[in-house]
Amino acid sequence: MSAIRADSTLPNRYTWREHAACRDLDTNLFFPPGDGPGSAERIEQAKAVCAGCSVRSECLSFALSTRQDSGVWGGMTEEERRRHRRRLARERRKAS
Ligand code: SF4
Repeated sequence: MSAIRADSTLPNRYTWREHAACRDLDTNLFFPPGDGPGSAERIEQAKAVCAGCSVRSECLSFALSTRQDSGVWGGMTEEERRRHRRRLARERRKAS
């Protein structure tokens, strides 16, 4: 009987997470509490990690498609993602 490999039976939709530069970091860095003291600094630190992440594009696509409404994903804050989504929607309307 052949062994069934777990990774061959699971959808690979989220395998990009295995390559995340933030994988072993404190998630609080990417989810600063509101606009309180230190938030801006933490956001900049999180963005610096994202800047060197090999799966940044996949991460941002995931956050946009699943409408993640908090935290830094793919190098963008929630407000930056909202603006990005609006810009993409405008471009789609123009193209149609
Ligand atoms: S882009 Fe940023 S938040 Fe996304 S996986 Fe990479 S380091 Fe983590």
